[in-house]
Amino acid sequence: MRIILTLAVAAGLLASGCGSDAKSASANGGRIHVVASFYPLAEAASQVGGTDVQVDNLTRPGSEPHDLELSTKQVDALEGADLVVLLGRGFQPVVEESARRRPKGTTLSVLDTLTGVGTGTVAAEGESGGVDPHVWLDPNGMHRIVAAVTDSLTAVAPAKKAAFEQRAAAYEQQLDDLAGRFADGLKTCRTKTIVTSHAAFGWLARSYGLQQEAISGLSPEQEPDPRRLATLVDLVQKRHVTTIFTETLVSPKVADTLAREAGVKTDVLDPLEGLTKDRVAAGDDYISVMDDNLARLRVALGC
Ligand SMILES: [Zn+2]
Repeated sequence: MRIILTLAVAAGLLASGCGSDAKSASANGGRIHVVASFYPLAEAASQVGGTDVQVDNLTRPGSEPHDLELSTKQVDALEGADLVVLLGRGFQPVVEESARRRPKGTTLSVLDTLTGVGTGTVAAEGESGGVDPHVWLDPNGMHRIVAAVTDSLTAVAPAKKAAFEQRAAAYEQQLDDLAGRFADGLKTCRTKTIVTSHAAFGWLARSYGLQQEAISGLSPEQEPDPRRLATLVDLVQKRHVTTIFTETLVSPKVADTLAREAGVKTDVLDPLEGLTKDRVAAGDDYISVMDDNLARLRVALGC
């Protein structure tokens, strides 16, 4: 009798293993395995998926996600996940390539959030001619990412639709409130020009009527041009800029030099490309870091 029961249980497990997404779900205690390519996308998946998902972030805390390299183990995780959430158009080409190699039939469970939120004319305005990937730095863009993640999770696990939608609605409300704080907080300012390390704040700037002047281009790896630095020194004086913004995951050396030459101070504006280890330890998240960014912007711009 005992043997029969055991066999029946084993047969049941085998049968459940034949479902389209059951294989990796059973390996994760019934949770849906999501691989996200960097922090904001992992945060969106965690907020919507809650306890129904296990989210792995391919970019480790404290690392910079542009042009991410992957370990063999990460490639395996990416190929076997129930859902891959990435940001395409060359932001992390290796992630895109690995996602393309996923077994046939699982291609729909790859969400390119940049396509999901629409690139349109706004994204085409990237300063160096490329597509500006930094959509998450606009709270409205993050809202659209959350909506796209909700659709993808629902496609992978339709039975959880109600739970996903409920969590998404609650988080979207928080993002809308954040968007409101940005709109109010940046309404009246002495200057509207932000000088940043790399051009990460284009989407944010467009949403709130700021002008971004970046030292380097859309990727922090691009070397700044000496002529660009001279132009910026000039511009800092003309537009009454008080602060050069450095960032958390990139060396502040060039920004420091510029600030010294222009005779202004520096402050940190976090592009949220990843949380630093200190931020993780402090329990910070997307919303708290964005509120911190807003406070620093208001001081620098005299709002
Ligand atoms: Zn960036």
